[in-house]
Amino acid sequence: MISFKDFIKQLPETKGYETLNIYKASINPFQDSWVFLFVQENQDKLLVSGRIQNEFEGESFVDDGLSYKIAPLTHANANALRLLFPFTKPISVLDKPRSFGLGDRLGIAGKGHLQIINNYDCYPVLAQQSIRELNMTNRSYEDVLDKASFSVFREGYKKGFGADGDHLKTASDIEYALSLGFTMITLDCSEHIRDDVLNMSVEQIIRLTNINSSLIGKYLNKEIIIEGIELKFTELDLRRAMLVYQNAIDYSKKIYDKYISKSKTKVGFEISIDETSTPTTALEHYFVANELLLAGVKIDTIAPRFCGEFQKGIDYIGDLFQFENELKLHAAIARHFGYKLSIHSGSDKFSIFELIGKYTKGHFHVKTAGTNWLEAMKVVSICNPNMYRRIHKYALSKFNDATKFYHVTTDINKIPDVDLIADECLVDLFKNNDARQLIHITYGYILNEKDESGKYLFKTELYKLWKKEEKLYADELSKHIGNHLALLYKGFN
Ligand code: ZN
Repeated sequence: MISFKDFIKQLPETKGYETLNIYKASINPFQDSWVFLFVQENQDKLLVSGRIQNEFEGESFVDDGLSYKIAPLTHANANALRLLFPFTKPISVLDKPRSFGLGDRLGIAGKGHLQIINNYDCYPVLAQQSIRELNMTNRSYEDVLDKASFSVFREGYKKGFGADGDHLKTASDIEYALSLGFTMITLDCSEHIRDDVLNMSVEQIIRLTNINSSLIGKYLNKEIIIEGIELKFTELDLRRAMLVYQNAIDYSKKIYDKYISKSKTKVGFEISIDETSTPTTALEHYFVANELLLAGVKIDTIAPRFCGEFQKGIDYIGDLFQFENELKLHAAIARHFGYKLSIHSGSDKFSIFELIGKYTKGHFHVKTAGTNWLEAMKVVSICNPNMYRRIHKYALSKFNDATKFYHVTTDINKIPDVDLIADECLVDLFKNNDARQLIHITYGYILNEKDESGKYLFKTELYKLWKKEEKLYADELSKHIGNHLALLYKGFN
């Protein structure tokens, strides 16, 4: 096989290696030839030569006996790449000690994410979107997965990454994600969790639940000790746990039996009980885990609803002392049953990361998403202040509508007037929680708004800027996600 330098010299268009804008980390040999990514007319494209070019769609060239294909970054070509280069295919990561979800709503964050994750023994979930996010961004799971595959190929990242069908509620959504090769399913049980039990009278709870001898044996007449801590159920605790979670447990079993246990490849299974207004007590966590175990459901992670508030894109709000005490118990219960705790809405929760690292003993899954979008908007505020001001004002006009989808305590009156802020100070808005949440929850509106002629009001311009400022975004993002990881690791190192 010829060397890459010699190979490049043969390409007539390229006039040699130096003039072609190649992503060096993407150069990979395959059998008799070479495959790599390069930039042509501002677009990333694949160049494929040798016998495998038949696997790709694109434009073929033949010159002096050398044939090659220039292949656009389509779904079919992503499939071909995943087949030929297994490191571009997602793997199951929840069974690793540490994994970190990096929801990339824009499909441009891979470079920054991989830049930082390379320094840690933590497995990234590069493809991680909920159906709500897909709808808000007009994307498909195909696109989300393809962007992740192309970015690991481009950056030469070969350690493995996960793909999470995040917060999926229905069987059809789960089938959709699994059919594409997603390696993790986060089952959102919120529609099967009773949120009204906290306000019920004792009589009501008793009327709605039946306790049999098996339950008494498992929870009331049994000494339950986890890492030296005794969990003591009263009859009311048990009835309440049943009422709140029994349907969610049954639903999880149904999904597990139908999809997860039958899957030919390993699929990580996460149970999410976090998107509800009822905090998960340690007793309830134990009850859910134990019932799942007895029902034969093997989970990899559970996302409880912790005390306090995990609002999007800002630090934890709540009593740190109480959080620490409850986290300690949740982490011990997870260890006891042999799975990891999953922390949702993990963007920017700087005051609790160290505690999470500490009490999980370095076994965790943490999910972020919104913060990656916020860093992209931060780049806009730095590079194009006027564009940022326009978007910011538009976001203010959509704020009320957006609060329908998210629980936030944003006070938009506390956000300074962008017209009175000097260009170089606009970036400081990203230290202001109210401004962060404003931009955070309006992303769908910002990306979808069109003018009278049907053209995107911001989206096209935004992507152009992000492409141009790719390096700045990657650097800012890697620094910011790095701050998350450094604290998590500090907790157990
Ligand atoms: Zn969640």
